[in-house]
Amino acid sequence: MADMLLSYFREKQKQTQKEKVSDTQCPFCSVQCRMQLVEQTSVTRKTYRTVGLDNPTSKGRLCIKGLHAHQHAFHKDRLTQPLMKRNGEFVPVSWDKALSYIAEQIQRIQKEDGKNAMSVYGSASITNEEAYLMGKFARVGLETKYIDYNGRLCMSAAASAGALTFGMDRGLTNKLDEISYSECIILAGTNIAECQPTIMPYFEQAKENGAFIIAIDPRETATTKVADLHLKLKPGTDAALANGILKIIVDENLTDQVFIQKRANGFEEVREHLAGLSLSEIEEKTGVALKDIRRAAISFGKKATGMILTARGVEQQTDGSIAVRNFLNILIATGKIGKPGSGYGAITGQSNGQGAREHGQKTDQLPGYRSIENEEHRAHVAKVWGVEPDRLPRKGVSAFEMIQKMDQGEIKGLFLLCSNPIVSNPNARFVKKALSKLKFLVAVDLFVSETAKLADVILPTTSYLEDEGTMTNLEGRVTLREASKSALGEARHDWQIICDVANALGKEQYFSYSCAEDIFNELRQASKGGTADYYGITYERLRGKEGILWPCPTLDHPGTGRLFEQSFAHPDGRAEMTVVPNEPAIQKEKPCDEYPLYLTTGRVMAHYLTGVQTRKSSSLSARHFESFMEIHPETAKNLGISDQTLVQITSRRGSIIVRSRWSTQIRTDTVFVPFHWDESQNVNRLVEDKLDPTCRMPGFKVSAVQVEALDNVR
Ligand code: SF4
Repeated sequence: MADMLLSYFREKQKQTQKEKVSDTQCPFCSVQCRMQLVEQTSVTRKTYRTVGLDNPTSKGRLCIKGLHAHQHAFHKDRLTQPLMKRNGEFVPVSWDKALSYIAEQIQRIQKEDGKNAMSVYGSASITNEEAYLMGKFARVGLETKYIDYNGRLCMSAAASAGALTFGMDRGLTNKLDEISYSECIILAGTNIAECQPTIMPYFEQAKENGAFIIAIDPRETATTKVADLHLKLKPGTDAALANGILKIIVDENLTDQVFIQKRANGFEEVREHLAGLSLSEIEEKTGVALKDIRRAAISFGKKATGMILTARGVEQQTDGSIAVRNFLNILIATGKIGKPGSGYGAITGQSNGQGAREHGQKTDQLPGYRSIENEEHRAHVAKVWGVEPDRLPRKGVSAFEMIQKMDQGEIKGLFLLCSNPIVSNPNARFVKKALSKLKFLVAVDLFVSETAKLADVILPTTSYLEDEGTMTNLEGRVTLREASKSALGEARHDWQIICDVANALGKEQYFSYSCAEDIFNELRQASKGGTADYYGITYERLRGKEGILWPCPTLDHPGTGRLFEQSFAHPDGRAEMTVVPNEPAIQKEKPCDEYPLYLTTGRVMAHYLTGVQTRKSSSLSARHFESFMEIHPETAKNLGISDQTLVQITSRRGSIIVRSRWSTQIRTDTVFVPFHWDESQNVNRLVEDKLDPTCRMPGFKVSAVQVEALDNVR
């Protein structure tokens, strides 16, 4: 009887179950894995699951974040109506009411305090069209010079290093599949196995092909496990370690003099600088044994091909930009760039970390990587926008410096799109205080984030399943992500919201688009002839295809897989090497009697950025529902800290409380805390707010802290 009933119900279920499959892309990291949303509707309920879809980058693989991405998109806490704050509480209002209030407040602030009293803070998780529009909105809609975005905290060091050394910044100079046949790979400050897991097979394949892999990281991670050599350096000493490797390469005559003569400037100055450095001092400073530095240098120098990949471990420091340049010095000195299996990669963190940094969200930048201070560049973009070049503001300041100006009262209003600066910026308590001083804050988001709680108005945006637009992955590959669902409730796309606000301010003539493709076609014109030239890329060429790597200057251009084969992008076609000191110009905190440990920060596989989306996913939250502090058992015992107990971590800027996790994989002088949690678990409350002098990146990776078992805290 039971069997009969079961088969009856199964049969019934089959008859009533409908399946809809839509192609999409993961909204999280920069690999931008292609995937499918499978929606099953039965008489009783609707269920969703996500499966991988073949593509040239991740080849159909998905990590746990991608597999569960739909969970936040369908979460009950999604915002579906505009909210306005009344007597400290958010109340739902109509779009008309929200937009007219926003326009009124912006006009009031700009009348009282000038155009630059308004600011714009964007995101690297939005589409290219929306990033482009944010830049235009600030310059033409608000006429303010104060615009920057959260990519400043993520990619700015690598971007400036690439631009200064090569004359062009594209995350990877080669396609990902070249990694598999590179003979020596240096992974500097990158935990790919946790952060971009679906590209790990490229490295595993390289290893199977006989590559020698060198990992540079203060911690042992799932990534360092694939390495043949792990240089477990003291936090913050990457630039000095690169000097050590380069010095040995030069001393051992492992440089490629033909390449240097033909294609690089500055080698002699670098060689002279290295001659004056002491390897034993570098050993002492970095904490890496000289024999290991030597092994890394000889291995890299002797192989015919090699690649160096960096990420936030090197870059999120007050000398991140010049430290990356020192790794690029190694590539140029050995001639390992611009040929198969040889090149550089900055492993981007955010989903559109590449595209969102190319088209005008950065304060000094116009679309196509044009400069806002260059008259020719201004004239080109002004013509596309239909304004006089003189009307375009000049450059403002970086993301954290905008926050400092909010604290000082120079910036009074903020239009914030898909970002959570209170959690993501250093010295997070100061950031909250500064944002609290604003006269007016509009936040556009999927959820009420910690920053959105401070807003006067929150506008509901659409998720990755609902919004259409192009994204540029870590290779520089432009892909089209089409919408699979209609907008939830009254939520609107980011691009529509930007246009709605601009139009409410009377700027309709500049912001009249009917779809994302219209915006992309304008972006193509604006980027035409620029460094990041998208002119030859169209929706038609992208639809259902593998994507196109920029630069792509004409409609029949196939895109550019490998950069710098013949020349670099500087006017003379040569790369610029630079002298890099062991000690940074901006001193980093060092452990002392009061704060005796290094604190370094990073990611876990289950979460993305400040966790606003991934903490809404039950499957992802279940893996890591709270933050933690990784500490060596020896250090923990000395401090009376048991495993899995609450500890208070204190720096000169504040304290947080998290759970201890003993691990022999970390240095005894260092603790590690991930950055995906808010409030009293927000590690950025502890982090120093000094900035890199070149790219204005904060020094997230090195702070000095003390740690106490919570029982001992009075
Ligand atoms: Fe792919 Fe990154 Fe998404 Fe994971 S988080 S599925 S690696 S895009």
